[in-house]
Amino acid sequence: MFSSTTFSVPTRRKNEMIDITGAVFDIVRQRGIKSGICTVFVPHTTAAVTINENADPDVPRDILVAFERIVPRDGDYAHSEGNSPAHLKALLTGSSVTVAVEAGRIQLGTWQGIFLCEFDGPRNRQVRVSVLCESAASS
Ligand code: ZN
Repeated sequence: MFSSTTFSVPTRRKNEMIDITGAVFDIVRQRGIKSGICTVFVPHTTAAVTINENADPDVPRDILVAFERIVPRDGDYAHSEGNSPAHLKALLTGSSVTVAVEAGRIQLGTWQGIFLCEFDGPRNRQVRVSVLCESAASS
């Protein structure tokens, strides 16, 4: 069975990492999915999705600070929209992650969370959660 759901995330800052683990977990639980493969995808070119530590808020803070060093705001950019740094950060981060679902739960590590990464906010972003599974019971 294939199940797909999209939800919106309003971002508030130019650069921001928003923990969406709970929202993804809720979708899997509400669909009654016991086991399968879950993909979290963002259909954007200046936002991304990643898995990293969500226990210490300094970790996403440090990642965003490092991105400012890695991707300079002023560079040899031709893109007329003026947001090439955001495109580059999205390129480095990626537009999807895949996690296993077992025993009705997303199998993340103890310190892992799923983050929507905003690099050109504030905007309203879409997150698509797709699950491929053997069977699902409605709740
Ligand atoms: Zn652009």
